[in-house]
Amino acid sequence: MKQFILILLFSISCSLFAHDHQLQYDSLVEAHFSAAKQLMEKKDYNGAHNEFKELFKLQSTIPDDAAYYYGLNQYYRKNYKLAQQGFEKYMKLRGDKGQYFDSSFFYLAKAQCMEKGYVEEKQECSLCHGTSHSKVKCTKCKGVGKEYCSVCSGSGVVISRNAMGDSYQKCYKCEGTGITLCSVCKGTTFQDGDCPQCKGQGFVLIQKECK
Ligand SMILES: [Zn+2]
Ligand SMILES: [Zn+2]
Ligand SMILES: [Zn+2]
Repeated sequence: MKQFILILLFSISCSLFAHDHQLQYDSLVEAHFSAAKQLMEKKDYNGAHNEFKELFKLQSTIPDDAAYYYGLNQYYRKNYKLAQQGFEKYMKLRGDKGQYFDSSFFYLAKAQCMEKGYVEEKQECSLCHGTSHSKVKCTKCKGVGKEYCSVCSGSGVVISRNAMGDSYQKCYKCEGTGITLCSVCKGTTFQDGDCPQCKGQGFVLIQKECK
């Protein structure tokens, strides 16, 4: 619980940003921020993280750029969720006029991808070529095109009962063959329907590695 409060205290959303470039900052703000940047250059991201913590702890007004650098540092520390918060904060503060806007945008997308572990891309379905429906093998006759006659159940004869007893006649529907064309595909062996590969969407989602 104590740790949780500390994290909250140091969190970027609780910090006060300048939103103004002309401002004079507290000398400690300048000191911790430039120390953080220098440590980042030396790839000492944990060291830089400590400087950011000190910076946020000051509860003084800090430059907007610190949000960007904080995000970048968290990105290198593989803390992708916190990295996103930094970039989002910076973009919110400076809008698209900020000098690190493009870079924030770029790293934000990367951080989102790294957090998920993959990026999903739509790819045209290879079976229906994006048309979303496809001729599939008839599900009723399994591609045979024929079925047992529904009138005589495949026997080829119909039995009629009367006073004289049973009389057997050649089935009128299948003409005694016991077999008729499939009632679903009418003998074509195929049926139109939603493409089974993309479930009628026309595309499939494939997972790609983060770039
Ligand atoms: Zn398809
Ligand atoms: Zn029949
Ligand atoms: Zn059929």
